[in-house]
Amino acid sequence: TCKADGVAAAVRAAAAVVAEHRAELIDLDRAIGDGDHGENLNRGFTAVVAALDASPPDTPGAVLKLVATTLISKVGGAAGPLYGTAFLRASTKLGTAEDLDVPALLEALRAGLEGVQARGKAVGGDATMVDALIPAVSAAEKAAEDGGGVAAVLTAAADAADRGAESTVDLVPRKGRASYLGERAVGHLDPGARSSALLLRAFAEAAR
Ligand code: ADP
Ligand code: MG
Ligand code: MG
Repeated sequence: TCKADGVAAAVRAAAAVVAEHRAELIDLDRAIGDGDHGENLNRGFTAVVAALDASPPDTPGAVLKLVATTLISKVGGAAGPLYGTAFLRASTKLGTAEDLDVPALLEALRAGLEGVQARGKAVGGDATMVDALIPAVSAAEKAAEDGGGVAAVLTAAADAADRGAESTVDLVPRKGRASYLGERAVGHLDPGARSSALLLRAFAEAAR
């Protein structure tokens, strides 16, 4: 249906953004990790696009579920299971929705964040993707309270995620590979926080 097509188009836009920023994400991860984040995500989203082409899902929830299962099977490392869990939990909030309306979107965003935190146990300030996602969810809630539609809510989320990702520069990582560096990782942007902000920006642009 048309509604699933809209969500699929947003996912395709996200895949394009990941491809565009592949080298940047690799460089960020090379500085404080093992340098594979851009490659991992690009492999995963390339497979997602192939899966969407092969068998287009007919509900928004099914699109996100396909994203989740594909990322879980194709992306290794920390980020694959984390993003996979996020999309899987988000998919359950869109599954029965008639349309991607603001309440369903908020539920999906909250569920995605909860999934990442359930899986990875990171809290705010640990210098991970959670530092992009927590402010993104808060900003989305506020934008919705202010009467914003889907595009406005996602734009507020993406703006907050950008600022949240930037905040990781000054933090000592406490989760994931970067935590092995401790203080030496200060001064570096967390790659997963950056990719989370990029994904939200892609979704926001696609919703405009
Ligand atoms: P790996 O470190 O296994 O190579 P990636 O490079 O794909 O995995 O992803 C690294 C990113 O994953 C980090 O930048 C961070 O944002 C995120 N990450 C790692 N561990 C956790 C965790 N426990 N909770 C939340 N995010 C995490
Ligand atoms: Mg890595
Ligand atoms: Mg790795």
